[in-house]
Amino acid sequence: MDSVKHLRFDVAVVGAGPAGIAAALAAADSGRSVGLIDDNPAAGGQIWRGAHDSTRPSASSTWFDRLNKSAVQIVRGARVFHATQGELAAESDDSVIQTSYGKLILATGARELFLPFPGWTLPNVMGAGGLQALVKSGLDISGKRIVIAGTGPLLLAVAAYARKSGAKVIGICEQTTRSRMARFGLQMMLVPGKAAEALRFAYDLRGIPHWTACWPVAAFGNRRLESVRISRHGQISEIECDYLACGFHLIPNIELPRMCGCRLRENFVQVGEYQQSSVPGIFCAGEPTGIGGLELALVEGEIAGYAATNWEDRAKHLFAKRARYQKVVRILQDAFPLRPELKNLARPDTLVCRCEDVPHERLSQYSSWRAAKLYARCGMGPCQGRVCAPAAEFLFGWQIDSIRPPLFPVRCSSLAAIASHSAPRN
Ligand SMILES: Cc1cc2nc3c(=O)[nH]c(=O)nc-3n(C[C@H](O)[C@H](O)[C@H](O)COP(=O)(O)OP(=O)(O)OC[C@H]3O[C@@H](n4cnc5c(N)ncnc54)[C@H](O)[C@@H]3O)c2cc1C
Repeated sequence: MDSVKHLRFDVAVVGAGPAGIAAALAAADSGRSVGLIDDNPAAGGQIWRGAHDSTRPSASSTWFDRLNKSAVQIVRGARVFHATQGELAAESDDSVIQTSYGKLILATGARELFLPFPGWTLPNVMGAGGLQALVKSGLDISGKRIVIAGTGPLLLAVAAYARKSGAKVIGICEQTTRSRMARFGLQMMLVPGKAAEALRFAYDLRGIPHWTACWPVAAFGNRRLESVRISRHGQISEIECDYLACGFHLIPNIELPRMCGCRLRENFVQVGEYQQSSVPGIFCAGEPTGIGGLELALVEGEIAGYAATNWEDRAKHLFAKRARYQKVVRILQDAFPLRPELKNLARPDTLVCRCEDVPHERLSQYSSWRAAKLYARCGMGPCQGRVCAPAAEFLFGWQIDSIRPPLFPVRCSSLAAIASHSAPRN
């Protein structure tokens, strides 16, 4: 059986992305004990992943320096898979970590939305952020031909990163309309700091075609991807490429907040002005409260950290700053709504649940997510519905309402360990 470690913090923070780092540092200012738990080998979350190499963006270095000098205890490589009142269970490579806390801050971030189309399971078709993460972890893409597709500003960040890493970015296929994209650009110019970012992107992406009203309809290849067929303003064409990096914007990681009983609104965690959730003592910051980007994640994290340690005055000082960046949530929602045509990309034999090999035609026999899980095993594989559930929600309009422990597949010995440690002792 795995060894069981017990930790106790005044404030436990789950997620060491920008929101979690900011929350942990703000909470640690009070002198209380703070634990920062993340499933990655290093802190940084999605945007600052691999930030210990020379490509580390300067914006992150101040935060990492502060974190390294702080008393925050970082619990790396530990995935929280279960939550009971006042206690979290996480699994690492060699142990189970049971953490009890006084206050809890959930900063679990977001992931990409994937939509199925013929060929989307071919090797070298991957998420846009997924490709970026692989490159940050050492994948060599120099000289490779890459098509970037889907929707949202992440496509631009990934294109810029891929080009910097030596890839030949053939084009960016953005499903939204040209007018929405133009409005997005203008509105973002008015958000502090974003004009400079936009100009940087314009420079970094010069010469790369950016097609609007454009999306992938099929990917082809024998053993791996060889070409992608795209629809652009209704015209079909085919592009030869080595990688297709494709993501349809971001969806919040709300599974843990839901397991903790936090109330949701429109699939995001509902929070009050101090980032407090509907559950007393539990706060939430960053992408699970609304997809709003780095700056909003940081300021929400700080507010949650101060509020969790009863420093409401300090938190209050940050309300105006948060309001400036909250605009981004609405701007993104207006700019990148998914067009209905994307519901028709999957053919009857296209897999929707790639863990359990469940094709679209099988799912179309059911009327709810629950039935699809029960009868077709959709969402019952290793990703536990993280990929197929949001896709099914979009394709079939189902409500994804069930959440059960463990949140991730874990070793049987981890389940046995928490069961024996939480069993009543006589
Ligand atoms: C794949 C991807 C790539 C991105 N790339 C960029 C980019 O290049 N540029 C850009 O401007 N924005 C990017 N973003 C958006 C960016 O992540 C956000 O704008 C913002 O930084 C989010 O910060 P956060 O702290 O809320 O979340 P995140 O940075 O996502 O951090 C959340 C952390 O919580 C961890 N976590 C979640 N659940 C658990 C659990 N149960 N147990 C343990 N740990 C857990 C995650 O692994 C992650 O490390 C990207 C987003 C994604 C999904």
